[in-house]
Amino acid sequence: MKRLMVDMDNCITDALFIERVNEFLGTSYNIDDQKDFELQNLTGDRKDEFWQYMSDKSFYDNAPLIDGVYDALKLLNERYDLYIVTAYIYRNSSPDISGNNLKYKYEYLKEKLPFIKPEQYIFIDNKNLIEFDIGIDDKMCNLMSSSKKILFDAWHNRNISDLELKKYDIVRVCSWKEILKILNIEKR
Ligand SMILES: [Mg+2]
Repeated sequence: MKRLMVDMDNCITDALFIERVNEFLGTSYNIDDQKDFELQNLTGDRKDEFWQYMSDKSFYDNAPLIDGVYDALKLLNERYDLYIVTAYIYRNSSPDISGNNLKYKYEYLKEKLPFIKPEQYIFIDNKNLIEFDIGIDDKMCNLMSSSKKILFDAWHNRNISDLELKKYDIVRVCSWKEILKILNIEKR
């Protein structure tokens, strides 16, 4: 069975990052207007205060699943050795509260995708430490140790040109329907 890596943030669900920033700052930033992947920069010199505020809050409360992911993962889980591989450490901001983030991610996955066993979750920092036959991620750098590379379209990766994707043999997809098509999985 081929080994499949599926990323969580911006592939399974969109974490409520900008919503939390807006809640904290009293602003109304829109995700589609953002260019900087580090959304925490929106908090400016209140960054530390923001992470303090987030220390007991989840980015996943009521976060909806991305369209089609539930059914797609159900099919893929029958055909592949599937792992949800997700980074949980707030590397540049507040590593000390990352344990809570891991817990919130775990609870979210368990509730929303009950057919995937917790043994299939991999909480990690550097995803390239593990090799996969197929990788699905919205960050190009996380696909480098996968043989087949699928980039899930997201607001922060639209500036990557087709030429550059081709150079690394990466295919961009905009939906889970497209992923099933690429992997030749027929819906029953
Ligand atoms: Mg992601």
